[in-house]
Amino acid sequence: MTQNKDFLRTIVEEDLNSGKYKEIVTRFPPEPNGFPHIGHAKSIAINFGIARDYQGYCNLRMDDTNPTKEDTKYVEALKDAVQWLGFEWHDEVYFTSDYFPKLYEYAIQLIKMGKAYVDSLNEEEIREYRGSVTEAGKRSEYANRSVEENLELFEKMKDGVFKDGEHVLRAKIDMSAANMKMRDPLLYRIRHAHHFRSGDAWCIYPMYDFAHCLSDYIEGVTHSICTLEFENNREIYDWLLDTLELDPPRPYQYEFARLGINYTVMSKRKLLELVQGNYVSGWDDPRLPTLAGYRRRGYTPEAILNFCDQIGIAKANSTVDVAQLEFCIRDDLNQKVPRVMCVLDPLKVTIENYEGSEMIEASYYPHDVPKEGSRLLPFSKEIYIERDDFMEHPPKDYFRLTPHQPVRLKNAYIIACTEVLKDEKGRIIEIKAKYYPDSKSGSDTSGIKTKSAIHWVSAKEAKKVEIRLYDRLFKVEAPEGIEDLNPNSLQIIKEAMIEPSVITEKLDERFQFERQGYFYEDPIDSTDDKPVFNKIVGLKDSWAKKKKVATPPAPKPTAPKPKNKKPASAKVAMSLNATQQKRFDYYRKLELNSEVATILACDAQLSSFYHDALSEYSSPVSLANMIVTEVARELKEKPIEALKFDAKQIAQLVKMIDDATISSKIAKQVFEQMSQSGKNPAEIVEEKGLVQISDPAKISPIVDEVFAKNPENLAKFKAGNEKLFGFFVGQVLKNSGGKANPQVVNKLVKEKLSK
Ligand code: ATP
Ligand code: MG
Repeated sequence: MTQNKDFLRTIVEEDLNSGKYKEIVTRFPPEPNGFPHIGHAKSIAINFGIARDYQGYCNLRMDDTNPTKEDTKYVEALKDAVQWLGFEWHDEVYFTSDYFPKLYEYAIQLIKMGKAYVDSLNEEEIREYRGSVTEAGKRSEYANRSVEENLELFEKMKDGVFKDGEHVLRAKIDMSAANMKMRDPLLYRIRHAHHFRSGDAWCIYPMYDFAHCLSDYIEGVTHSICTLEFENNREIYDWLLDTLELDPPRPYQYEFARLGINYTVMSKRKLLELVQGNYVSGWDDPRLPTLAGYRRRGYTPEAILNFCDQIGIAKANSTVDVAQLEFCIRDDLNQKVPRVMCVLDPLKVTIENYEGSEMIEASYYPHDVPKEGSRLLPFSKEIYIERDDFMEHPPKDYFRLTPHQPVRLKNAYIIACTEVLKDEKGRIIEIKAKYYPDSKSGSDTSGIKTKSAIHWVSAKEAKKVEIRLYDRLFKVEAPEGIEDLNPNSLQIIKEAMIEPSVITEKLDERFQFERQGYFYEDPIDSTDDKPVFNKIVGLKDSWAKKKKVATPPAPKPTAPKPKNKKPASAKVAMSLNATQQKRFDYYRKLELNSEVATILACDAQLSSFYHDALSEYSSPVSLANMIVTEVARELKEKPIEALKFDAKQIAQLVKMIDDATISSKIAKQVFEQMSQSGKNPAEIVEEKGLVQISDPAKISPIVDEVFAKNPENLAKFKAGNEKLFGFFVGQVLKNSGGKANPQVVNKLVKEKLSK
């Protein structure tokens, strides 16, 4: 068993131990009126899972008592979903409609017992007579009909003598019951409609409350597990089975919490609206929470089942963060799928000093994944890189290719930009570059430093592919309807360029496109000539950040303060789930600012890394800052297992900043080294002589030198241009190779300038 014992399994075990049942029989009883969604997956996992864990069996029963909404295509979709999740139903698929004759007999039996009657009130009267929560109902005068009259009328109902709604069959229970469901519930109604299986054989159809318990009984079900909204129906369930005095053993009903997920709608009715209104491409649209949708998008059954396992079985309804589901699929694919390169928005790069071509062998898997295999990557003079991976005027923290910064081509060489070509509108159309022949990955002797590695493809050999980027279907956490649809939930890229092995070798259906996310070859639209890939999920949760950005700013002090308005920090927390909220509160207690606290709280990986680091060195704020910037950036590029450094080393690094051994600027360099070599920070600092200089006697000459070199600026400062203070501090830091302690520099510069 994969999980701790939940309350249902506890009950099942007790029932087996006490000998109440010899064998466990459960059932999954969907109404075939739509495609199953992830909520159904939870129910499937519970019902089939329990049967499997206790060597019993689980029936798949189509609860098809509503002729106007049901269809065989939904039956097929339900069967597919169960099989796809890896379960097998007992015997053949069952249908409630197959029990219609038997159910009819039970109804006759109830009438004969004086426990059911034909009522001739209309719908509205029935509602009125039912009373309210605070008021008892009153019984219809038709309840006094004799058994014979009831039998005769019921038979006529069945024979089609009456119109829809003229009569109903009701149980005779208690019109003043506290549980309103027990106020003479309806058992049968007249519906002159064609049923997709029984055709026109019946024009009376049993109601859920009547059909469900008896179908369970007919099938020998022991544990009838359903969702919480049926809690009040349990009394009818029991009443019917007991009143009919059926031979034991009989089934019992148990309820668990329905699954809800944020950023989506879940009921089949709402999903049907999206399908019928063409807001999506069909029931299997990869943005829908249907199992057909997840499957087409590239989710694995393992990920879905893991998710069901993680959320557990509870008795209180709650909404689960969709990020948790996304985590499960990422987690599953991370260890499984080959990594390849695909350029979504190609920018041509011509490497002018490269002639000819070569094949570079590159592993499909990172070294920490227990799988082996490699492909040959063609490399040549003309390649494509991602448009985003070049910037002519980069911001400070940009680590990819720029006119002044070389970059490594993943698995290949380091290149440097030599020229930027633009069209008449100023849009960059091509980069001219040079490569360093001795910088090849794995045998790099060039000594050239790069800050990141980018993906690329060889222009001639790359294949054109269509990429469908999916995002959440709704833009708000608790969508009301179509007005909340996310207009950017689908983006189609017609001409992405992918390395040829993906198409020619077809090693897998799913791939990680380096730095982009996980992708799945669309099972329907993809062809050899026109391959199509669906984005399954990104490499990390891009919404955690968006949420943060969406945080409303704190109210301006001048604005009148609305009553009951929570402070901004509490608002951040409002969009967090319970676990995240708990972490957030804890981090605020550690005095992290709310931005840092939110980032950590929303990212389980980062947060656990933080906790590990904290247990090594208790400096909550400095550690958090290092982790949400440097470590988080590394994690954007690779999974946590691929990091060369661990929490302990980060703790050592931060400690060296805290006790002024190194400056925070140097710490960045050390961090770069750590993330490449995995060496301890102290070792790196030692090796490279990076220890911070705090001794004023050593810094003083550097300050003097800077002043001497910049007599003009010195004069300007003395003439009143105080802005130049920063310039001098910066120059001194630079001239010290970043090693001077900034505080000491500040003090010295100030002192000397005031002289
Ligand atoms: P919907 O409102 O989406 O149509 P439903 O409850 O009407 O759902 P059924 O086809 O009748 O759907 O359900 C089949 C089984 O799946 C039932 O036992 C039901 O309790 C369970 N189920 C349906 N939705 C969920 C959910 N969101 N979470 C857990 N179980 C669910
Ligand atoms: Mg329903």
